[in-house]
Amino acid sequence: MARKNPAFSEEDPLARASRVLKIMDRLDERHPDAGLARASRVLKIMDRLDERHPDAGVALEYRDPLQLLVATILSAQCTDERVNQVTPVLFERFPDAGAYAAAGVEEIEEIIHSTGFFRQKAKSIKGAAAVIMERFAGEVPQEMADLTSLPGIGRKTANVIRGGAWGFPGITVDTHVKRLSGRLGITDHTDPVKIEYDLNDLLPEERWFRFSSALIFHGRRVCGARKPDCADCTLTDLCRYYLEESDGI
Ligand code: SF4
Repeated sequence: MARKNPAFSEEDPLARASRVLKIMDRLDERHPDAGLARASRVLKIMDRLDERHPDAGVALEYRDPLQLLVATILSAQCTDERVNQVTPVLFERFPDAGAYAAAGVEEIEEIIHSTGFFRQKAKSIKGAAAVIMERFAGEVPQEMADLTSLPGIGRKTANVIRGGAWGFPGITVDTHVKRLSGRLGITDHTDPVKIEYDLNDLLPEERWFRFSSALIFHGRRVCGARKPDCADCTLTDLCRYYLEESDGI
């Protein structure tokens, strides 16, 4: 038989309910962002970002999963606009994984030169294509574990490919998502995988991909790394950074 706590066993039910409410109030005061409060704030942030950036999504141009994979590798430390200037030539020269795998790495380097870090990127593209040919019959794999086994493909890139190519739910934690989720006070973590899991817990699955895309667009257009443009932002009342900087709390 369960033993009762002697301190509470004689307590009047009403007194007990009132005591529990006081404890909850105190916890809310000490942790205003915990649990439901944070989740409801994130939902509001999501709706406002949707209004502000209705065009949010993958800005890279591609027609199939392999093209998206290659464009995503090229987009590291490079603007999407620059990648989109380079990829038409690249995609025409290398129409499938077999073509990249058979190419000399210098051929790829020459075309992608202007995207920066071209040696490493060319190596990753050729290496990923070779594994796709050897282990996946020439098709880009859909599973996270298979994708991240390819050279040059980390979890962030894999989420972009899975979401953009097949519509799988996933949160892409790039530099913008990391910065904004910290400033907004959505997460206290700095590790991308922990941030991803925090956001997974707070958002409905069908909004994961769209939310991270909207955060990326907001980071590029409004909440820049060096100086956030809070005067032009619709999230001020929901943003921890703004409230702290403006002594709003
Ligand atoms: S209020 Fe300022 S810091 Fe917060 S998200 Fe907007 S621009 Fe960024």
